[in-house]
Amino acid sequence: MSGAEPRRYIVRTYGCQMNEHDSERIAGLLEADGLVRASGEADADVVVLNTCCIRENADNKLYGNLGHLKTWKSRKDGRQIVVSGCLAQKDQDVVAARAGHVDVVMGTHNVHRAAELLHEAEHADAPITEILDAAVIDDHAMFPSALPVRREHSYNAWVTIQIGCDNNCAFCIVPAVRGAEISRPYADIVGEVHQLAAAGVTEVTLLGQNVNSYGRDLQVAARRAGDESAKLRPLFSDLLRDVGAVDGIRRVRFTSPHPKDMRPDTFAAMAETSAVCEHLHYPLQSGSDRVLALMHRGYRADRYLERLGEARAAIDELAVSTDIIVGFPGETDDDFAHTLEVAAAAEYDYAYTFIFSPRPGTEAAAMEADFVAPDVASQRFQRLRVVVERSALRKHEARVGRLEEVLVEGPSKRDPAVLSGRTRQNKLVHFTPPRPVRTGSYVSARVTSAAPHFLVGDFVELLDEPTHKLRIPVAAG
Ligand code: SF4
Repeated sequence: MSGAEPRRYIVRTYGCQMNEHDSERIAGLLEADGLVRASGEADADVVVLNTCCIRENADNKLYGNLGHLKTWKSRKDGRQIVVSGCLAQKDQDVVAARAGHVDVVMGTHNVHRAAELLHEAEHADAPITEILDAAVIDDHAMFPSALPVRREHSYNAWVTIQIGCDNNCAFCIVPAVRGAEISRPYADIVGEVHQLAAAGVTEVTLLGQNVNSYGRDLQVAARRAGDESAKLRPLFSDLLRDVGAVDGIRRVRFTSPHPKDMRPDTFAAMAETSAVCEHLHYPLQSGSDRVLALMHRGYRADRYLERLGEARAAIDELAVSTDIIVGFPGETDDDFAHTLEVAAAAEYDYAYTFIFSPRPGTEAAAMEADFVAPDVASQRFQRLRVVVERSALRKHEARVGRLEEVLVEGPSKRDPAVLSGRTRQNKLVHFTPPRPVRTGSYVSARVTSAAPHFLVGDFVELLDEPTHKLRIPVAAG
């Protein structure tokens, strides 16, 4: 290989959108440092494993992958392995101790240092472990969106508005690995959306662990600095309106809000801002007040449903999705019956349902004496799926015959002649176009049939073509 040939990298991502967005930043930083993307491990010089500790057995899977990469590394001089993300944050020195061939272990607050750490590791004899316990508030580079980026898609983009979480849900490891809630400065967010729109992005998703509490810390800071009016600002709804007003942005989404912080001004902003999509992800977790209290969720089921009713009254054609955990420690048949009742009453468009599994380091993991038997949890899970899929199918069937605006995401996984895309309600639509249609285009499609997880439609017309460039560099703010 010639000395002038660039080094190649791949990033393997596990877990949530926050991690996927971090991976885009790591890729962007490596590319800014002169590396180019590899097509796979075989031609890569650097492999980054961006880990997640939410999934079951995440650590076993990581060490399995690292065992395989030891051989990969020994086959070529100069190859490097990076472990980043939540598991690296949580296990810190364990990674270096169990896999000494790793070059860099970096935490969730160190993403901005990816390229520098790789350089430092070239001269090190042992893994370099750099984990910051918390983000530094006045350092904007800590926000993933403020770093260079290598976006996976050129027509839509995630925009981080907040990092960390101030809640303490008993099943969740996020506060431990992502730290306290910090809101990104308002002007930086709106500025980034302007840049994205200028580069051809038409859909943005505002990202945070608890998006509708966005700005609380900024208000406290402003009041401390003597600005009394700061407490009057409902900042998340302001943000929806301002981001939705950016020229070129046709769709605004956000994830995830917390039911306890849902406020009418957010619904009003959703209803009054035409770019904000008619979709609300509204995580229930359980329909039992007793279990919600054990989880420390901060709301009761009746309040949850009441707010949902307010949202539906305010926003026409609102689609609603949720997350539900079954078999949380101590959940009884009666508790589960409440979950079924609330799920039926909420009439979800779709739901992510999970059987509880303990995450080491969380409060719920220590409630071993109350763990629900696996066969009981799995029966409950099946019963919940029936309720959720019934309402999903009903909601989808109600779209048959309707004209939907679809943002084209590309060929369907099963048949390259069929294109797939999403409606404003975030419903997946498959259709066969009469002629090639570029990814990132908007088309209208008439829905012809429905299944619980997707719609099928007939292409009607092309509404808009993408204007994006293939790569979108985002400068540090
Ligand atoms: S709100 Fe609860 S579930 Fe969501 S990130 Fe915070 S602690 Fe985890």
